This record gives sequence, C-alpha cells and structure tokens, in this order.
Amino acid sequence: MSLGRTFTVGSTALKIPAVGLGTWQSKPGEVKNAVSTALKVGYRHIDCAWIYGNEKEVGQALAETKVPRKDIWLTSKLWNSYHSPELVEPILDETLESLGVSYLDLYLMHWPVAFGRAPDGSIAKTPKDADGKVILDKKLTEDPLPTWKAMEKLVDSGKVKSIGVSNFNIRRLEALLKGARIKPAFNQVELNFNNSQPELLSWCKDNGVLLEAYSPLGSTGANQRDIPEVKELAEKYGVDAANILISWQVQRGVVCLPKSVTDSRIESNFKDVELSKEDFDMLEKAAASSPQKRAVDPASSWGLDIFEDAKQKAKL
Ligand code: NDP
Repeated sequence: MSLGRTFTVGSTALKIPAVGLGTWQSKPGEVKNAVSTALKVGYRHIDCAWIYGNEKEVGQALAETKVPRKDIWLTSKLWNSYHSPELVEPILDETLESLGVSYLDLYLMHWPVAFGRAPDGSIAKTPKDADGKVILDKKLTEDPLPTWKAMEKLVDSGKVKSIGVSNFNIRRLEALLKGARIKPAFNQVELNFNNSQPELLSWCKDNGVLLEAYSPLGSTGANQRDIPEVKELAEKYGVDAANILISWQVQRGVVCLPKSVTDSRIESNFKDVELSKEDFDMLEKAAASSPQKRAVDPASSWGLDIFEDAKQKAKL
C-alpha cells in the first residue's frame, strides 16, 4: 500500500489522494512552509477551510510550487455563517481568491449547523445574542437542502469539481440524500482510535459516500500515539505510532488528513506501512471496544446536539 494512492470518487473519473495535509490551527507564519514541505515530500492533497483564516498563506505556497494545479487536490469548506443560498457562491469566491485558484476539487458543508445574522444584521463568524448564546438559523439547520442546492450550482458552474458534507451523522445524511440532485460524495468526520465510528463507515461504504478522517492522531493536545495497541504495532513495524494511525484509516478505505507544521513530522507521516490483516483486525476491534470520546465537539458552545451520539447508540 502506498500513501500516494488514490480513491475513486463515486462513479466519476475523479481520484482523491488518500492522504492530505490538514491545516486547522496551522498558524500564520507556519502554514506556507507546511504546505510547501508537504508538496515537496509527495503530498498532493491539502485540506483547507475558510474559517481556518489561513487560506491566503496556503495560496502563497501554491503560487510558488512547481507541482501543476491539476495534480493537487484542494478541499475547502463553507462556514456556518454562509448557509443562506445567496451567500454560498460569494464566500466560495473569497476562498478561491485567497488560494489563488480558479476551482476547488472539493467543497464541503463544514457543519450541519447554520448560523443566523448577528443582532445588528451583520454576518459574524460566531454570531451571539445579548446573553452570549450563539444565534442559529434553525430552519436551515434542520433542513440544509437549500444550502446544498446552492452548492450543487457550484458544480454546474465548474467552480468546484465535487461537493460533500462534514460532521454529518447517518440520520442527517439520509435526509439530505432524499432531496439532493448531486449526491454528497464525501463526509469528513472525526475518525481515530477513540472515535472509530464503524457503523458510519459501513453505512457510507454501502451508500457510495467516501469518509474522510479528521483528527486522525487525536487532534492537538490529545495525541493517540501512546495507546498501547498502537505503540505495540509501531514497534513491530519499526515506524512511528502516527504511521500506524494514518495507515489504519487508509486501509479502512478512508481518506486521512493528518495535520502538522513540523517538517520532520510532515515527511514521516507520509511513510507507507501495510498492516497485516491480523493486525488491522486487532486495531479495528480494540478501537471499537475502547471508550469512545470525541476530540472535537462544539455542541455545548453552539447549543445544539450535532452528532446525536446518544440517540444513535440507543438505536443500535
Ligand atoms: P491531528 O489528529 O492531525 O493532530 C494534529 C496534532 O498532532 C498537532 O498538534 C501536530 O503537531 C501533531 N502531530 C502531527 N504529526 C505528528 C507526529 N508524527 N508525531 C507527534 N505529533 C504529531 O488533528 P487535527 O484536529 O488538526 O485534524 C487534522 C485535520 O483535519 C485538520 O488540520 C483539518 O484540516 C481537518 N479537521 C476538520 C474538521 C472539520 O470539522 N471538518 C475538524 C477538525 C479537523 P505539529 O503541527 O506541531 O507538528
């Protein structure tokens, strides 16, 4: 298995590189170098988002690289404050301008959550009312189809090659699929040892939706390289524990998005490891039976049960 491998996107001719560089929390002054290093050592996939506030600097690295645009997979994401259909294309245009490109390979709805306007009518990154509560657009949150239809038009116009969602559970995916003209090709979610989500993986495989693993190492400050089963395999294969976590996701058929701004880690994270079937099954089982805990869940600050994990569990 090679981490330079690709996955075919649905029934299209598109091929997404299985490993992409994450850029969340990559600070100004760090992210340009991280992207340049990644492209130099073989990555051909960069995962961006408008809300990360660093797309201009990612664009500087893209402007300087000798790797042709057509050989790089670029993803960005529609932020929650721009779900009103008339705001979707203008905010994508801002992302395109920041990155210095004429199209994206993938545009994701970042969260199944639409924010409303701030009390003064302006658009804010996180609009809050007088009590400090986040203002939601409840209608567009319950039914994101109008937002999705605006995203479908971006495919029609050629500004994006594919569209998908992020942080959607099975219930939300099923509801969106009912009204979608263009099926969501991707769902980018947290996937790691402490949140391996085998039911979601199986549903997505059955329904032709590619999963993308964010926070594959457990995210900042919650690194999963010390988990005994992972460490044991790292020793056995003579690699870093991060390689085990990344390769495991790719072997599950999942696109994996490790983030780093450290040159040596960016390079070593891209090292190939092929887990034997026995070791893969051991890791899969150990992850599924360990207590599940998300690293990323803004539910309490946004005042909304985004993942509905308890409801999901009750159904199983
Ligand atoms: P990761 O699981 O990728 O972990 C990143 C952390 O691990 C950083 O602190 C990094 O440090 C460190 N790290 C990286 N490689 C190694 C290594 N080999 N050894 C030790 N430490 C290492 O977390 P993220 O939460 O950043 O997730 C990855 C990407 O997924 C994001 O950057 C973003 O692109 C995407 N994402 C999407 C979300 C969504 O809602 N759609 C939500 C969260 C993430 P350092 O950088 O200092 O090297």
